[in-house]
Amino acid sequence: MEGLKEELKRNVSSSLLNSARSYYKVGLIEVFKSKTNDWRNFQPAIGNLSISVELLLKYLVAQKSIRYLYQNIPLEAQILLTDPNCLPGNHRPYYIDNIKWFSKKTIELQKAIELFNIYFPDKKNEFNSFFSSIPDIRNVCVHAAIPRFKKFELDRITYFTIKLFRYVGKIDKKAIVHLTKILEGKIVEFIDSYEETTIKIVKDKIKNAQSIAANRNFEKIYSTCEGWEEMLQICPVCNEEGICLGNTNPLFDDDGGTMLIFEASSFQCFSCKLELDSYEEMVFADMDIELPRDEGEEEDWVRQNEDYFMS
Ligand SMILES: [Zn+2]
Repeated sequence: MEGLKEELKRNVSSSLLNSARSYYKVGLIEVFKSKTNDWRNFQPAIGNLSISVELLLKYLVAQKSIRYLYQNIPLEAQILLTDPNCLPGNHRPYYIDNIKWFSKKTIELQKAIELFNIYFPDKKNEFNSFFSSIPDIRNVCVHAAIPRFKKFELDRITYFTIKLFRYVGKIDKKAIVHLTKILEGKIVEFIDSYEETTIKIVKDKIKNAQSIAANRNFEKIYSTCEGWEEMLQICPVCNEEGICLGNTNPLFDDDGGTMLIFEASSFQCFSCKLELDSYEEMVFADMDIELPRDEGEEEDWVRQNEDYFMS
């Protein structure tokens, strides 16, 4: 039955990938059309891109652990997708076509995101804010009319969708999307302009903070932090401690040891008023994104997260 599982995996993942690519191409064409028109009629653009993200993530799930692509499937089907050799090999189960043609329900986008974060923990922080907004955007796009978005938000969705497709294409050659030269050229132009805009935003914020720090009335304000979602970091402008918001995650080494890493997604200094609102802004300001937590905190973290592992 191993062969049957592999056949399913091949069929299902290639259907998902082909659809993801089609929505991505259509989405990009619509994006550039809508952008030249001051983002008028932007909903099909964003709708197609968010669906392409969902399908691409589901493709990764199908490739890596196909069992987790489905919810509420018969027990025997679950065994076929995990331990196919436990099943007698003399019949073709009745549910195969349902699985192959997606008559059986696949997981929600949110679950596909959780699985992506498990497969690619080093990408979790980079895509964190994108992934936290994309399920809602996708739902609104396919179910209702979207209220006016800020233009920067639409650019941001496009930017991260392109980044995700590029990343998956880099780690999995099958997933490379072949686009026309014209479209490729537009993407390069778009990425450059998006990054230039973000760098300019960060430069302006730094300049503003520098003038506050240089003022003779500059006042040091001490920051404190608590819990696993806050950590202090030296401010790149005034050298006082500011506060980072983010998440603490364990890093397991081969010897069975655990190290806690704080992954920052924003920064605020109360002294010079520097505020960096996202992972990219922190990267462009040359700040540390991953900070090791103090040794000795691991026991507390494990104790507090025990319920999570046991539930
Ligand atoms: Zn500062």
